[in-house]
Amino acid sequence: MNEKKIKEMNLAAPCGMYCGTCRHYLVLKKNLLEERGFKRGCEGCRVRNKNCTFLRKFCAKIRKREIDFCFECDEFPCEGRKRIDDIYIERYNYSFVDNLNRIKEIGVKKWLKEQEDMWKCPHCGGNLCIHDNECYDCGKPISNDK
Ligand SMILES: [Zn+2]
Repeated sequence: MNEKKIKEMNLAAPCGMYCGTCRHYLVLKKNLLEERGFKRGCEGCRVRNKNCTFLRKFCAKIRKREIDFCFECDEFPCEGRKRIDDIYIERYNYSFVDNLNRIKEIGVKKWLKEQEDMWKCPHCGGNLCIHDNECYDCGKPISNDK
């Protein structure tokens, strides 16, 4: 993948996470590292070249960058994949597997736009954080009907 493509796809993690709503991304973007007690934030999985914090430990294909997204794999969704997905569904009502299927269906560009809109604060237009359940700009909680 070339640099331009990496930048374009940056907030679409190989695992199906939208990095734009991630706590580690937002504390850096909003300059809140110290205030929230973080040593470092994250610029997004792809730019950071980590190739998936969640999955790289047990997935060689992600680690070696043989695939750009989990859905490109014959074993998708594999056991490790499903375990992480279950946690996020339970905790945040957010499914990486659904996201990945959606990316496959409409393409990464359109999906990123969808996610951007989905995680935009209805009160101030700021960035909503899935992990902290709040807007990082106005501090209002994410409404439950989401
Ligand atoms: Zn807001």
